[in-house]
Amino acid sequence: MAPSDGFDMLVVVGNPPRRKPLTTGGTAFLLFASAVTALAWQTPSQTQQPASASASPLASTTPTGQSTAPIQAGPPPSAQTQQGALNIVVLDPAHGGIDLGSRGTGGIQESDIALEFAVEVRRALEQQGFQVVQTRQGNDNPSFDDRSAIANAQRGAVFITLHIASTGLPGTVRVYVNSDLPPITTANGLIPWDRAQAPFLGLSRKFGDLVQGMLTQRFKGSPDTAQTATIRQLRTTAAPAIAVEVSSVVVNDRADLDHMAPGVADAIMRGAVAFKPLYVMASTGGALP
Ligand SMILES: [Zn+2]
Repeated sequence: MAPSDGFDMLVVVGNPPRRKPLTTGGTAFLLFASAVTALAWQTPSQTQQPASASASPLASTTPTGQSTAPIQAGPPPSAQTQQGALNIVVLDPAHGGIDLGSRGTGGIQESDIALEFAVEVRRALEQQGFQVVQTRQGNDNPSFDDRSAIANAQRGAVFITLHIASTGLPGTVRVYVNSDLPPITTANGLIPWDRAQAPFLGLSRKFGDLVQGMLTQRFKGSPDTAQTATIRQLRTTAAPAIAVEVSSVVVNDRADLDHMAPGVADAIMRGAVAFKPLYVMASTGGALP
Protein backbone atom coordinates (compact mmCIF):
# COMPACT_ATOMS: atom_id res chain seq x y z
CA MET A 1 0.00 0.00 0.00
CA ALA A 2 1.13 3.52 -0.70
CA PRO A 3 0.95 6.46 1.66
CA SER A 4 -1.21 8.38 -0.77
CA ASP A 5 -4.23 6.19 -1.15
CA GLY A 6 -3.68 3.22 1.05
CA PHE A 7 -4.10 0.93 -1.92
CA ASP A 8 -1.28 1.36 -4.33
CA MET A 9 -0.50 -1.36 -6.78
CA LEU A 10 -2.15 -3.98 -4.70
CA VAL A 11 -5.64 -2.69 -5.16
CA VAL A 12 -6.63 -1.10 -8.38
CA VAL A 13 -9.26 1.56 -8.50
CA GLY A 14 -10.74 2.35 -11.85
CA ASN A 15 -8.07 0.66 -13.89
CA PRO A 16 -9.80 -0.66 -16.99
CA PRO A 17 -9.16 -4.31 -17.62
CA ARG A 18 -6.56 -5.00 -20.18
CA ARG A 19 -7.54 -7.41 -22.83
CA LYS A 20 -4.09 -8.64 -23.41
CA PRO A 21 -4.18 -12.06 -24.94
CA LEU A 22 -2.89 -14.84 -22.83
CA THR A 23 -0.85 -16.03 -25.72
CA THR A 24 0.81 -14.51 -28.67
CA GLY A 25 -1.17 -16.92 -30.76
CA GLY A 26 -4.05 -14.55 -30.70
CA THR A 27 -6.58 -15.99 -28.31
CA ALA A 28 -7.71 -13.77 -25.52
CA PHE A 29 -9.06 -16.58 -23.50
CA LEU A 30 -7.80 -19.05 -21.07
CA LEU A 31 -8.81 -22.50 -21.93
CA PHE A 32 -9.35 -24.56 -18.91
CA ALA A 33 -12.86 -25.80 -19.13
CA SER A 34 -11.75 -29.08 -17.72
CA ALA A 35 -10.00 -27.49 -14.84
CA VAL A 36 -12.99 -25.45 -13.87
CA THR A 37 -15.26 -28.37 -13.36
CA ALA A 38 -12.51 -30.48 -12.10
CA LEU A 39 -11.60 -28.57 -9.02
CA ALA A 40 -12.66 -30.99 -6.40
CA TRP A 41 -12.24 -31.11 -2.68
CA GLN A 42 -10.78 -34.25 -1.37
CA THR A 43 -9.97 -35.51 2.02
CA PRO A 44 -6.53 -35.12 3.50
CA SER A 45 -6.03 -38.86 3.38
CA GLN A 46 -5.93 -38.81 -0.35
CA THR A 47 -2.82 -38.70 -2.36
CA GLN A 48 -0.70 -35.63 -2.84
CA GLN A 49 1.72 -37.03 -5.34
CA PRO A 50 3.06 -34.73 -8.01
CA ALA A 51 1.05 -34.62 -11.17
CA SER A 52 2.22 -36.22 -14.31
CA ALA A 53 3.47 -33.99 -17.04
CA SER A 54 0.48 -34.36 -19.30
CA ALA A 55 -3.24 -33.95 -19.58
CA SER A 56 -3.74 -30.65 -17.83
CA PRO A 57 -6.08 -28.27 -19.55
CA LEU A 58 -3.71 -25.48 -18.61
CA ALA A 59 -0.95 -27.23 -20.46
CA SER A 60 -2.23 -25.59 -23.61
CA THR A 61 -0.42 -22.50 -22.51
CA THR A 62 3.31 -22.39 -22.22
CA PRO A 63 5.48 -19.87 -20.44
CA THR A 64 6.75 -18.67 -23.75
CA GLY A 65 3.27 -17.70 -24.75
CA GLN A 66 2.88 -20.23 -27.48
CA SER A 67 -0.61 -21.29 -28.25
CA THR A 68 -1.78 -24.73 -29.05
CA ALA A 69 -5.12 -26.21 -29.84
CA PRO A 70 -7.47 -26.72 -26.94
CA ILE A 71 -6.77 -29.83 -25.02
CA GLN A 72 -9.80 -31.93 -24.47
CA ALA A 73 -10.76 -34.29 -21.78
CA GLY A 74 -8.11 -36.19 -19.94
CA PRO A 75 -8.69 -39.43 -18.16
CA PRO A 76 -12.07 -40.05 -16.58
CA PRO A 77 -12.71 -38.56 -13.17
CA SER A 78 -11.20 -40.46 -10.36
CA ALA A 79 -11.13 -39.77 -6.70
CA GLN A 80 -7.69 -41.28 -6.67
CA THR A 81 -6.30 -39.19 -9.46
CA GLN A 82 -2.94 -37.72 -8.85
CA GLN A 83 -3.35 -35.06 -11.42
CA GLY A 84 -3.71 -31.55 -10.24
CA ALA A 85 -1.93 -31.98 -6.95
CA LEU A 86 -0.52 -28.80 -5.54
CA ASN A 87 3.17 -28.81 -6.32
CA ILE A 88 4.10 -25.28 -7.25
CA VAL A 89 3.94 -21.98 -5.45
CA VAL A 90 4.33 -18.92 -7.63
CA LEU A 91 5.76 -16.18 -5.46
CA ASP A 92 5.32 -12.61 -6.58
CA PRO A 93 7.46 -10.01 -4.82
CA ALA A 94 5.33 -7.01 -5.70
CA HIS A 95 6.63 -3.84 -7.37
CA GLY A 96 10.30 -3.62 -8.34
CA GLY A 97 12.37 -1.66 -10.81
CA ILE A 98 11.27 1.95 -10.93
CA ASP A 99 8.18 1.01 -8.95
CA LEU A 100 9.40 1.15 -5.38
CA GLY A 101 5.98 0.59 -3.85
CA SER A 102 5.42 2.05 -0.41
CA ARG A 103 8.25 3.94 1.22
CA GLY A 104 8.86 4.67 4.85
CA THR A 105 10.53 7.71 6.30
CA GLY A 106 13.52 5.60 7.20
CA GLY A 107 14.23 4.85 3.55
CA ILE A 108 12.57 1.47 3.63
CA GLN A 109 11.21 0.47 0.22
CA GLU A 110 8.42 -1.99 -0.26
CA SER A 111 9.88 -3.45 -3.47
CA ASP A 112 13.11 -4.21 -1.65
CA ILE A 113 11.54 -5.79 1.43
CA ALA A 114 9.09 -7.82 -0.63
CA LEU A 115 11.99 -9.44 -2.42
CA GLU A 116 13.73 -10.11 0.87
CA PHE A 117 10.60 -11.77 2.25
CA ALA A 118 10.26 -13.84 -0.90
CA VAL A 119 13.68 -15.36 -0.27
CA GLU A 120 12.56 -16.53 3.16
CA VAL A 121 9.20 -17.77 1.94
CA ARG A 122 10.85 -19.64 -0.87
CA ARG A 123 13.25 -21.35 1.46
CA ALA A 124 10.46 -22.46 3.80
CA LEU A 125 8.35 -23.80 0.94
CA GLU A 126 11.19 -25.64 -0.73
CA GLN A 127 12.01 -27.35 2.54
CA GLN A 128 8.51 -28.82 2.36
CA GLY A 129 9.00 -30.05 -1.18
CA PHE A 130 7.20 -27.30 -3.04
CA GLN A 131 8.61 -26.05 -6.29
CA VAL A 132 8.79 -22.28 -6.13
CA VAL A 133 8.61 -20.01 -9.15
CA GLN A 134 9.26 -16.31 -8.64
CA THR A 135 7.83 -13.63 -10.87
CA ARG A 136 10.96 -11.59 -10.34
CA GLN A 137 14.33 -12.52 -8.93
CA GLY A 138 15.84 -9.09 -8.74
CA ASN A 139 15.03 -5.44 -9.02
CA ASP A 140 12.94 -5.54 -12.16
CA ASN A 141 9.27 -4.84 -12.64
CA PRO A 142 7.28 -7.30 -14.71
CA SER A 143 3.80 -6.13 -15.68
CA PHE A 144 0.72 -7.44 -13.91
CA ASP A 145 -0.05 -9.55 -16.95
CA ASP A 146 3.47 -10.89 -17.17
CA ARG A 147 3.31 -11.95 -13.56
CA SER A 148 -0.07 -13.61 -14.00
CA ALA A 149 1.15 -15.31 -17.16
CA ILE A 150 3.92 -16.97 -15.18
CA ALA A 151 1.33 -18.38 -12.79
CA ASN A 152 -1.09 -19.32 -15.53
CA ALA A 153 1.54 -21.34 -17.29
CA GLN A 154 1.94 -23.64 -14.31
CA ARG A 155 -0.11 -26.63 -13.38
CA GLY A 156 -0.84 -27.51 -9.80
CA ALA A 157 0.07 -24.06 -8.60
CA VAL A 158 -1.03 -21.43 -6.17
CA PHE A 159 -0.09 -17.78 -6.44
CA ILE A 160 1.04 -15.49 -3.64
CA THR A 161 1.81 -11.82 -4.13
CA LEU A 162 3.85 -10.26 -1.33
CA HIS A 163 3.41 -6.66 -0.27
CA ILE A 164 4.68 -4.48 2.56
CA ALA A 165 2.08 -1.92 3.57
CA SER A 166 2.50 1.67 4.61
CA THR A 167 -0.52 1.29 6.87
CA GLY A 168 -1.68 -1.10 9.51
CA LEU A 169 -0.36 -1.91 12.94
CA PRO A 170 3.35 -2.69 12.63
CA GLY A 171 3.93 -6.35 13.28
CA THR A 172 0.65 -7.52 11.77
CA VAL A 173 -0.01 -9.29 8.48
CA ARG A 174 -3.14 -9.41 6.35
CA VAL A 175 -4.21 -11.77 3.62
CA TYR A 176 -6.46 -10.61 0.79
CA VAL A 177 -8.38 -12.51 -1.81
CA ASN A 178 -9.97 -10.94 -4.83
CA SER A 179 -13.56 -9.81 -4.52
CA ASP A 180 -16.25 -11.50 -6.53
CA LEU A 181 -15.96 -11.23 -10.27
CA PRO A 182 -18.83 -11.18 -12.74
CA PRO A 183 -20.07 -14.66 -13.51
CA ILE A 184 -18.70 -16.32 -16.56
CA THR A 185 -21.40 -16.80 -19.12
CA THR A 186 -19.53 -17.89 -22.19
CA ALA A 187 -20.96 -21.11 -23.51
CA ASN A 188 -17.70 -22.40 -24.87
CA GLY A 189 -15.99 -22.73 -21.55
CA LEU A 190 -13.39 -20.11 -22.31
CA ILE A 191 -12.53 -17.72 -19.55
CA PRO A 192 -11.70 -14.10 -20.37
CA TRP A 193 -8.20 -13.19 -19.32
CA ASP A 194 -9.33 -10.45 -16.98
CA ARG A 195 -11.64 -12.81 -15.17
CA ALA A 196 -9.24 -15.68 -14.89
CA GLN A 197 -9.55 -15.65 -11.13
CA ALA A 198 -13.32 -16.14 -11.14
CA PRO A 199 -13.41 -19.95 -11.07
CA PHE A 200 -10.80 -20.01 -8.31
CA LEU A 201 -12.33 -17.57 -5.85
CA GLY A 202 -13.63 -20.30 -3.57
CA LEU A 203 -10.27 -22.01 -3.41
CA SER A 204 -8.50 -18.68 -3.02
CA ARG A 205 -10.70 -17.88 -0.04
CA LYS A 206 -9.94 -21.23 1.55
CA PHE A 207 -6.22 -20.84 0.94
CA GLY A 208 -6.31 -17.27 2.21
CA ASP A 209 -8.09 -18.20 5.40
CA LEU A 210 -5.60 -20.96 6.09
CA VAL A 211 -2.60 -18.69 5.59
CA GLN A 212 -4.20 -15.88 7.57
CA GLY A 213 -4.91 -18.29 10.42
CA MET A 214 -1.27 -19.34 10.56
CA LEU A 215 -0.10 -15.73 10.41
CA THR A 216 -2.46 -14.62 13.15
CA GLN A 217 -1.19 -17.30 15.50
CA ARG A 218 2.20 -15.70 15.25
CA PHE A 219 1.44 -12.04 14.63
CA LYS A 220 -1.11 -10.98 17.20
CA GLY A 221 -3.50 -8.30 16.13
CA SER A 222 -3.76 -9.65 12.59
CA PRO A 223 -7.26 -10.49 11.31
CA ASP A 224 -8.74 -13.92 11.86
CA THR A 225 -9.71 -14.49 8.26
CA ALA A 226 -8.68 -13.33 4.82
CA GLN A 227 -10.17 -10.08 3.62
CA THR A 228 -11.63 -9.25 0.25
CA ALA A 229 -10.51 -6.49 -2.07
CA THR A 230 -10.29 -5.69 -5.74
CA ILE A 231 -6.77 -6.74 -6.57
CA ARG A 232 -5.49 -6.24 -10.06
CA GLN A 233 -2.75 -8.81 -9.76
CA LEU A 234 -5.07 -11.55 -8.61
CA ARG A 235 -7.85 -10.94 -11.10
CA THR A 236 -5.87 -12.25 -14.06
CA THR A 237 -4.45 -15.22 -12.23
CA ALA A 238 -5.91 -18.62 -13.03
CA ALA A 239 -5.01 -20.36 -9.79
CA PRO A 240 -5.88 -20.08 -6.14
CA ALA A 241 -4.34 -16.70 -5.45
CA ILE A 242 -3.80 -14.50 -2.42
CA ALA A 243 -2.09 -11.27 -1.50
CA VAL A 244 -0.09 -11.17 1.71
CA GLU A 245 0.54 -7.73 3.13
CA VAL A 246 2.97 -7.10 5.97
CA SER A 247 2.83 -3.95 8.12
CA SER A 248 4.71 -1.83 7.67
CA VAL A 249 7.37 0.24 5.91
CA VAL A 250 6.76 2.95 8.50
CA VAL A 251 8.87 1.22 11.15
CA ASN A 252 11.95 3.21 12.09
CA ASP A 253 14.27 0.26 12.08
CA ARG A 254 14.36 -2.06 9.13
CA ALA A 255 15.28 -4.86 11.51
CA ASP A 256 11.72 -4.76 12.79
CA LEU A 257 10.60 -5.97 9.38
CA ASP A 258 13.54 -8.30 8.90
CA HIS A 259 12.61 -10.07 12.10
CA MET A 260 9.14 -10.78 10.75
CA ALA A 261 10.33 -12.54 7.61
CA PRO A 262 10.98 -16.01 9.07
CA GLY A 263 7.62 -16.02 10.82
CA VAL A 264 5.79 -14.88 7.73
CA ALA A 265 7.59 -17.51 5.70
CA ASP A 266 6.77 -20.24 8.18
CA ALA A 267 3.10 -19.25 8.32
CA ILE A 268 2.76 -19.16 4.54
CA MET A 269 4.46 -22.54 4.30
CA ARG A 270 2.12 -24.00 6.91
CA GLY A 271 -0.86 -22.53 5.12
CA ALA A 272 0.25 -24.07 1.85
CA VAL A 273 0.80 -27.44 3.49
CA ALA A 274 -2.67 -27.27 5.05
CA PHE A 275 -4.18 -26.29 1.73
CA LYS A 276 -2.44 -28.99 -0.24
CA PRO A 277 -4.92 -31.80 0.45
CA LEU A 278 -7.81 -29.48 -0.41
CA TYR A 279 -6.34 -28.59 -3.77
CA VAL A 280 -7.08 -31.33 -6.20
CA MET A 281 -7.67 -30.56 -9.81
CA ALA A 282 -8.96 -33.76 -11.30
CA SER A 283 -9.50 -33.89 -14.99
CA THR A 284 -13.11 -34.47 -15.91
CA GLY A 285 -13.17 -32.71 -19.22
CA GLY A 286 -16.66 -31.45 -18.57
CA ALA A 287 -18.27 -28.15 -19.31
CA LEU A 288 -18.39 -25.24 -16.96
CA PRO A 289 -20.66 -25.78 -13.99
ZN1 LIG B 1 2.36 -3.08 -2.59
